[in-house]
Amino acid sequence: MWDMPDSGSIFGAMLQEFDEAARILNLEPGIWRILTHPKRQITVSCPVQMDNGEIEVFTGYRVQYNITLGPAKGGIRYHPDVTLDEVTALAAWMTWKCAVAHIPFGGGKGGVVCDPTRMSRRELEALTRRYVAEIIDAIGPEKDVPAPDVNTNDQIMAWVMDTYSMHVGHTSTAVVTGKPVELGGSLGRREATGRGVMIVTREAAKHLGLDLKSATIAVQGFGNVGSVSADLLARAGARIVAVSSSKGGVYNAKGLDIAEMLDYAREHKTIDHFPGGESIDNEQLLALDADVLIPAALENQITADNAGTIRAKIVTEGANGPTTPDAHKMLHGRGIFVIPDILANSGGVTVSYFEWVQDRYGYFWEEEEVNARLEKKMREAFDDVLQTSLKYKVDLRTAAYIVAISRVGTVTKMRGMYA
Ligand code: GLU
Repeated sequence: MWDMPDSGSIFGAMLQEFDEAARILNLEPGIWRILTHPKRQITVSCPVQMDNGEIEVFTGYRVQYNITLGPAKGGIRYHPDVTLDEVTALAAWMTWKCAVAHIPFGGGKGGVVCDPTRMSRRELEALTRRYVAEIIDAIGPEKDVPAPDVNTNDQIMAWVMDTYSMHVGHTSTAVVTGKPVELGGSLGRREATGRGVMIVTREAAKHLGLDLKSATIAVQGFGNVGSVSADLLARAGARIVAVSSSKGGVYNAKGLDIAEMLDYAREHKTIDHFPGGESIDNEQLLALDADVLIPAALENQITADNAGTIRAKIVTEGANGPTTPDAHKMLHGRGIFVIPDILANSGGVTVSYFEWVQDRYGYFWEEEEVNARLEKKMREAFDDVLQTSLKYKVDLRTAAYIVAISRVGTVTKMRGMYA
């Protein structure tokens, strides 16, 4: 039996969100019980010989939260603060995200407790290969398909693919997504989460009667999600007035030149001291008078302490779990239109699905086709959630959970209990 998580628990926050929707749906207690328990949690120790000759042991996790709709799907993150509680919550969110996106996957997540910014390329490769070797029996194209997440990228996915392929004795591309295009990756996958963020922000603006072309936007985080979201929204005509990363942020009321910022970030590995604006910190960024706020960094950034300072009309959650349940109630109560993570950032896993399909076909699509299919899927998901929120008179997060729980719950019942 899963112990009730304590108040600081991220899984506990997920459960609060879940319960809200399950109550409205009048969910059967048995299905409720099933859907609030992780199916499988794996903890492994990964010894790695470091460049200085010493052996370090890194803790890794892989959680398969639910595999009712298909193989577990979800990224692997490398971060010093990774915990089993966090990875379990993220795996649950992947379950609901795939259901909202209407793709045939369950939810999973992996994490390794490490600081990749202080590791050499060789150490990262050794750690990745050892972690994959430790979870090898649990993953596979039909079982569990990892992908990039915080601090992991296409090169790391190439090592995941190679390690798995070496173990099974043949090249298996569909075991992981977010790979380089040269070895079975999909065109458009790297930009997919940011493109999805752009699409739902545009749809929300349309719904609220806000002109995206004259809108101002603040983006927290300049990793894969934040940087691509900022770039695509700038290209769509919006003015990106502020961007921040873990080291600091930049503000320019007239709008930042995101193309220049991308070049600067590539060269300096940070946006700190970018010359095109004045520096601001994270709290100042969250409180800016911008029409749209896009938290695209880590969990628990918008809390009951700072939710009152937020002035945006739309909050698009590029990150997973950036808003605590209390803060979310405050934002919704103040009429702020929050596009929840499990909808807003589902573009990444949607194109991961396209990548998995292309790998299994052995036939690859042009980028226009990937983007057109993503556009259609994101719009459908946005409409499903919006219509559900209007029908039940609830916020979009609760509506997204209602959509997800209905889909996973229905299939759970259809499949019935085994033994
Ligand atoms: N890590 C991404 C997420 O949180 C993508 C997962 C995937 O493509 O499987 O949605």
